This record gives sequence, structure tokens and C-alpha cells, in this order.
Amino acid sequence: MKANPLQIIDEEKAVSTGRFPKWLHISLPKGGEIFKTNQILEKYRLNTVCEEAKCPNRMECYSKKTATFLALGKECSRSCGFCNIDFTKKPKAPEEDEPKRIAFSAKELRLKHVVITMVARDDLPDGGAVHLAAIIREVRKENPQCTVEILTSDFAGNFASLDIVLEESPEIFNHNIETVRSLTPKVRHKATYDRTLSILSYVKKKKKNHFLKSGLMLGLGETEEEVKKTIGDLHEVGCDIVTMGQYLQPSKHNIQVKRFVHPDEFKAYTEYGRAIGIKEMYCGPFVRSSYNAHEIHSHLIDHVTQKD
Ligand code: SF4
Repeated sequence: MKANPLQIIDEEKAVSTGRFPKWLHISLPKGGEIFKTNQILEKYRLNTVCEEAKCPNRMECYSKKTATFLALGKECSRSCGFCNIDFTKKPKAPEEDEPKRIAFSAKELRLKHVVITMVARDDLPDGGAVHLAAIIREVRKENPQCTVEILTSDFAGNFASLDIVLEESPEIFNHNIETVRSLTPKVRHKATYDRTLSILSYVKKKKKNHFLKSGLMLGLGETEEEVKKTIGDLHEVGCDIVTMGQYLQPSKHNIQVKRFVHPDEFKAYTEYGRAIGIKEMYCGPFVRSSYNAHEIHSHLIDHVTQKD
């Protein structure tokens, strides 16, 4: 849910009192579509990152009949400091019918752009790659007009697993860097900043996908210089789309918010990224990796077509 309408004085006070600054106050959409989206997801017994990560945009996205599927269960083999998804050393085996359930649900939701993410499955030899590839195939079979965006784990750096997924040629391959280099050990202790860059670079060189995407959260204690360096690193490995949003602590067990980043700062990073050559910078307090993913994809296609 988005922030409660609380009286906020300034951003520092907002953090110390656990309240939200005024730019995080927006009215929540209502309506039957939210109910219908929920109903379809429940009918097919699907997990979404929208629910599991307590995304602040879920009412808005559900009202537009969109959601991001969370594949391979709702328990993760990692426990990153920022993430609300349940941790277990032994997640359940992938469900064989999950690819079909996701594909049918995408059809019923009439999605034009299907976004699929996954929990990290360090317990599986392939990290869940074969299952993810099966999902992409089923989605395409049932929804031939759809474009597909996948937001993957780092597969523990296993490039053979990456190849399995890339064989399915998703229109967008997304792997988040999540934060700046200095904060990576604290924010996602089982991943490394360089591994993420090497995965993105590998995917770009494979040229199997159309667009490469990554993103990070702000408000964890990063400096402006570090953010710019990260944007530069993402550009260097060939990212076409970079998303940036405000980190919001999903539960008391997660890392605390250090700072609420003003919308003007997001705007400045957008301009910076574009100036150094990133085709699509999508930044703002409520931006998440999959927020308005279809619109961003369409916008990028227009951008590329105009240039041709
Ligand atoms: S922004 Fe993404 S994760 Fe959040 S509700 Fe929308 S689709 Fe779900």
C-alpha cells in the first residue's frame, strides 16, 4: 500500500519518525479491476513479486490489470537485506504446471507485455533456468502477440544457466544491480557488484535479447558520486534501460531507509544517464523494475525506430 497521509515536515524528520515525505503521498486507485486481477491470479494459484515484495504500486498496477509473476515458488534461497520474500535453505521443488498457469493467466489478463521474475534458487543445479525457459515458451505459445521481459537472479554466476534462458530470446533481459558497489555486501550479501556487471555484459554480447535492463534502489546510504558511477558502469556494459526508485523498508526485519530522495534528484539522475548515452532512464520515487514495463518497452521501440 502506498504511504498513509501523514503530516511530514522535512525529509530528515521523515526518516527519523518513520513517516513519509509529501511526495510519497498519493491517492490509491480503487475499482473492480483490482479485484478481477486478484481473482485471476488466485484462480491460477500464482505468486507475484507485487505481493511478496509488498510493492507500493500494486493497487495501481492491478487496477491496470497488470502484475509481475514470481516464478519458482515464493521462498527464496537467499535473504537479501532489502527484500521481503521469505527465505528458506530448501525451497519447494518447481511446480511442473507453473509455466502453463502463468501462460493462461497472462492470456486472461490480456497482457501485451509479460514480466516474469524469479526467486534465487541456489539449491538447484541450474538455478531454475530450465523452468524459467519453459515458462517463456508456454507464455509465447498461449500469447503469441506478447512480448516477454524476464528479471532474473544472477544464477550464482553460472553462464550455462544464462544461456538456457537466453535461448528463448526474451525481448527484455533484466538483472538488477540493486545498489552501488560499497553497499552491495550489506544489501545483497550473496551477490557481488562485479558478478552483476559480468552477467549484463555477457548477455549484451550474446545479442539474443533485444534490450538489456537493470535497476537500483536509492535511499540506502549511497552518495551522488556512487550513483553516477553505477549508472556509468551500467552504460559501459550496454544497458539500454535503467530504472531507479526509492527504497522503502518492507518490514522491520529489513534494512532501514537512510534517506528519502527528492523527485528532483531522480530527475537529475535521469538527465545524467541520458547525457552519457543510456537510451531509457526511468527514475522516480515509485519506480520499480517492472513498473510500467510495457510502456517503457514501447517507448524504447519508438526511440530506436525514430533513430533508424
Ligand atoms: S511495479 Fe512491478 S512489482 Fe510493483 S505492483 Fe507493479 S508490476 Fe508489481
